[in-house]
Amino acid sequence: MSPERIIAKLLALGADLSTRSAVRAALSLISEDEEELTDQIYVELKNKAYKDDFVKIPPEKRAVFIPQCLRNIRSCPAEFGKYGFECVKCGLCVIGDIIEYCEKIGYKQFYIVPGGSLVKKILKEMVPKGEIKAAIGIACWSELAEAAEKLSMLKIPLQAAPLLRAGCINTLVDIERVKATLEIGTERYNKPITCKSMETRKNPSVS
Ligand code: SF4
Repeated sequence: MSPERIIAKLLALGADLSTRSAVRAALSLISEDEEELTDQIYVELKNKAYKDDFVKIPPEKRAVFIPQCLRNIRSCPAEFGKYGFECVKCGLCVIGDIIEYCEKIGYKQFYIVPGGSLVKKILKEMVPKGEIKAAIGIACWSELAEAAEKLSMLKIPLQAAPLLRAGCINTLVDIERVKATLEIGTERYNKPITCKSMETRKNPSVS
């Protein structure tokens, strides 16, 4: 059964799905208590629950956390700095493309992190300064579920994009899902091309 159908079934039963442990308990009632499924359902529910708050935050105040395991480990020339790996967009992995797309639609904060401890450090530093008001996480389901729990305590709305293949190296992500997640609510912050500039492009003689 798909996660969406399981969620619908649990909601129809009136199950409490407000926390990760409540989701786990609810799944065990219908004999579906697999750990990854618990995390997946919890994350998908949080994605929906936080969407309205997330869209209110402009892209420049949203932090994008990208797992370092997506890098081309053998040949990546990125150096490790204060806030994680500093991608030079060498073209050897998908991270450069993700960052380029982020920049195109107004994001300014991307962190290529080796794990949760650096994420915590970044949040500890940036959230009180008002630099980070929302987050996008790309990770495995269990890390996303942990992040969703912690960020909800900090009142930081999270939108999560799961890895298709998890692990320590050679992980895989659905780039279209990442782009769709990055795009959530950005249209209101990205200025459309004005009529005048469009006309000017169509007809160079217009001054
Ligand atoms: S695109 Fe960035 S992260 Fe990927 S291998 Fe190149 S420098 Fe490293």
